[in-house]
Amino acid sequence: MAEEHTTTPFDAEITELLRCTRCNLRYAAGKSTSSLKLTYCSFLCELGDLGFSMQGLEHMERAASEPATEADETPEPVAVD
Ligand SMILES: [Zn+2]
Repeated sequence: MAEEHTTTPFDAEITELLRCTRCNLRYAAGKSTSSLKLTYCSFLCELGDLGFSMQGLEHMERAASEPATEADETPEPVAVD
């Protein structure tokens, strides 16, 4: 008996396996937790390979672009004798 080959349009997308650039694992792009779904199987591999995560970088850039609020200095109390 030959193996039945059934394909649905949905399966085609989900079962499209990629090979992780870092750990060489085969994974489904849709299940990757990495921002670079087509390159890494998970954000851990992304993090390990790049040294940072794209999400973390995005967050850092956003934080850096925020204006620093350091004009709220309280003056030192002056001792009056
Ligand atoms: Zn991996």
